[in-house]
Amino acid sequence: MTESPTLHIVCPQCHTTNRVREAQLASAPDCGNCHKPLFGAHSAALPDVASFDRHIARNEIPVLVDFWAPWCGPCRQMAPAYEQAAAQLEPRVRVAKVDTEAVPALAARFNIRSIPTLALFKGGREVARQAGAMGAADIVRWAKAHGAG
Ligand code: ZN
Repeated sequence: MTESPTLHIVCPQCHTTNRVREAQLASAPDCGNCHKPLFGAHSAALPDVASFDRHIARNEIPVLVDFWAPWCGPCRQMAPAYEQAAAQLEPRVRVAKVDTEAVPALAARFNIRSIPTLALFKGGREVARQAGAMGAADIVRWAKAHGAG
């Protein structure tokens, strides 16, 4: 018997890195540390630079990031569509959000000029970026066109 390969998945709640068998990804695995679901069909809020860096560096699935801010009307309008896209893209993609007002260091590092901006990361590198609000179907299509899921 060959065992199914394992992937590193960072928990969206406690940010611990889990090893998950690829074959188990779709069957709602829980975090070994905090025992919450690793995929809850919701975007993961990355509240600081440390959690962002861990998700980008450790996840062995692509990470989609919405750079947004609470005062941005188009960002708030896109939020429900982004959650729908999360439900469709999980568990092949980690769908995350960064509040650029709360974590300005990340907005500066990635030179975010307008929000919302979506960025897709694979293997620790940014591979695609798109500024402007999108609907759920367009978000999913865009992410898949750039190799997510
Ligand atoms: Zn956890």
